[in-house]
Amino acid sequence: MRGALSHLSRMSTTSRHVWPCKVSYRRAMPRLIDSHSHLDAREFDADRAHVLTRATAAGVIAQIVPAITAASWPALSTLCAAQPSLHPAYGLHPMFLAAHEPRHLDALEVLLASGAHGVAVGECGLDYFMPDLDRARQQFFFDAQLALAAQCNLPMIVHARRALDAVLAGLRRHPGLRGVVHSFSGSAQQAAQLWDRGFMLGIGGPVTYGRAQRLRGIVARMPLQYLLLETDSPDQPDSDWRGQRNEPARLPRILEEIAALRGQDPEELAAATRDNACRLFGLSGDLR
Ligand SMILES: [Zn+2]
Repeated sequence: MRGALSHLSRMSTTSRHVWPCKVSYRRAMPRLIDSHSHLDAREFDADRAHVLTRATAAGVIAQIVPAITAASWPALSTLCAAQPSLHPAYGLHPMFLAAHEPRHLDALEVLLASGAHGVAVGECGLDYFMPDLDRARQQFFFDAQLALAAQCNLPMIVHARRALDAVLAGLRRHPGLRGVVHSFSGSAQQAAQLWDRGFMLGIGGPVTYGRAQRLRGIVARMPLQYLLLETDSPDQPDSDWRGQRNEPARLPRILEEIAALRGQDPEELAAATRDNACRLFGLSGDLR
């Protein structure tokens, strides 16, 4: 956590001389929503409570935790029921295609209708980067989850790797859906097509790397109402945390980078992205 903490302590040291204490605290730690965190992953089994404590201390007031396989749903549901700051999404992730069976779609429909407090359908989508994932089979599960999201009037959390045009084609087949393409990595044209369909972009660790010029340009200029912050913990660590297990407490580093790219006040950016997350996932208004 060296990057974020050194920045925060630098800010608060400076602040103490300039602003009253209360103001410097608020400026040092905006309230944030992590729109994509796999806090249920086994990487956190040994110290999940500490990870949550660090997230809260870093200002992360809520996390959306998307599922990956049907087998993960019960534990995810239990975890989120015990922690009011965690909000589950239920779905079948394309990278775990081998674990999915058509009957899991029926189970998903039952789960979503059961009032299990899922805030979205996901993580689902298409991954054309991994060579061994059968594309037709991915498409089958993605299309079924698009239909379920429409049927249940839920937003979608979409994984799209080298597959944004195919994802956009899927969205065109199901007009009226809303959601987020998490860890967006496409072109400006693809971004604009997503916004036109009411989809947001989830932005996390990759934006902190100087080589991500195209992404940084899009994030610098994109309409604020489509921007969500995410860590994708335990994956996709930011540039100050590379090679390490990512965790939601790193989210202020993402905020800091995007605020600098956009020339925007971090507190304002935090408030806008909280508002976007609350609007998309139907979170309670006191998180805004
Ligand atoms: Zn994910």
